[in-house]
Formats: sequence, C-alpha cells, structure tokens
Amino acid sequence: MSIDKTQNGLVFIFTGKEGSAFLSSQQEFYNTLSSSFESLSAQVEFADGLVEDFATELDRVGKTADDGNLYIFRLDGGEVDFLEVKENPDSNQNWIEGILTFAQNYQTTEQENNMYKWGQKVPHTGEFLCVDCGYIIELEEGKTFPICEVCLSGEPDGPSGPEGAFWESV
Ligand SMILES: [Zn+2]
Repeated sequence: MSIDKTQNGLVFIFTGKEGSAFLSSQQEFYNTLSSSFESLSAQVEFADGLVEDFATELDRVGKTADDGNLYIFRLDGGEVDFLEVKENPDSNQNWIEGILTFAQNYQTTEQENNMYKWGQKVPHTGEFLCVDCGYIIELEEGKTFPICEVCLSGEPDGPSGPEGAFWESV
C-alpha cells in the first residue's frame, strides 16, 4: 500500500523496523477493520522503515521511519499538513480502533458545552483544558485535538479512551 497524494483527507502512518512487535500487532488489528476506513477519506500505511512518499515530511518534523511511531498527516490539494505524532505507542493497544475514532471525530463539527474530542478540528486558536487531568494547552485553529501528553487521555488504554476523552475551551 502507498499513499495517494491526490486524495484529500487523513493519512495515518505506522512506522518501525520490519517485523517489530508494534508493526505486526497493528497490521493484525488493521486486517480486521480495514473496510471501516473506506468511507472516511483516510489512508493507513505501515512503513517498515521505508516511507518513500513521506520521507521529506518525516524529516521536516525531525523523525525517521525507523522509530516505532504513529504519525497523523492531512492531505489537502497535494499539500501535506503534519497534525500529530504519538511516539512509541504501546504495541498491545489497538491503535487502529483509536485512529478510526480519530477519523470519525475529524469529520464531525458537533460538540457540546465547548468540549472537543481527539481528532476534532480546533475551532479557534486558544487554550483548552484536558477534562481528565486539568492540563491546559494552547492550540492553533485548524489543527486537531491531540492525546493529552500528561495523563494520556485519548489513548486506547488511557484514563479515557479515544471516544471518551475531552478538551474543554477555557
Ligand atoms: Zn490529561
């Protein structure tokens, strides 16, 4: 599989050394859920240390494909926008279910009480508070809400998972 840069939408890239526990486990999870991504304008790639299409973009954010990471990009008219990196994700966690939720959240502008979920677009530049731990971050309009770097809310095994983790506008 390789990335089609003419297709607008989200790009999720799992990187790592060939045969690593992280890549193997996530590929297995992906095999059971791949059809769920078809309606979501989302592409998923497993890089095995070779991300030809995205080498420049990874270089730009100071990363290489040998690290066992999850990268999230957005393609828009051939332009590549870096959204988020999750470094060294736990290989036992189902990150495919996680990014499926991210892709679903990305498509919705629905929100209640100024609360936003992982993957939703940031509506205005400003400060947002992690409802689980109270950590406050500044986010730029048009980026996406991240996993909380302090309490890991939003991770599959976080205090709240991808569906239940919220950022509140402050
Ligand atoms: Zn938090």
